[in-house]
Amino acid sequence: MSDTLFSKIIRREIPADIVYEDELCLAFRDIAPQAPTHVLVIPKKPIPRLSEVTPDDTALLGHLLAKVATIASDLGLADSGYRIVINNGDDGGQTVDHLHLHILGGRSMQWPPG
Ligand code: 5GP
Repeated sequence: MSDTLFSKIIRREIPADIVYEDELCLAFRDIAPQAPTHVLVIPKKPIPRLSEVTPDDTALLGHLLAKVATIASDLGLADSGYRIVINNGDDGGQTVDHLHLHILGGRSMQWPPG
């Protein structure tokens, strides 16, 4: 499995503005924010993309989604709302091959996405 820049962020080899960490996941601000608040939540396990999860990852996925909600709340987004995005593969617009959930908030989102 190839090493990605997100693995380097987990190992503190690349700096990041980390907003949350536990034994299973890390959350940090996106370097090119697409909204006033834009945070990435990643598993420490280097899963390349959502389509490559296995049944063994079910509890981890639940953990990530639950943490997204608490992190978004901690960031002050609970009342105003926010969007969660998982880009998967080329057509999904994924550019980093390490599973990540985008938390986007602080402005009104449009639908459909581009
Ligand atoms: P994707 O397009 O794969 O869904 O999202 C990858 C995200 O990672 C992009 O929003 C991009 O701005 C962000 N990103 C890429 N390189 C870095 C980096 O070195 N540091 C941080 N914090 N975010 C990054």
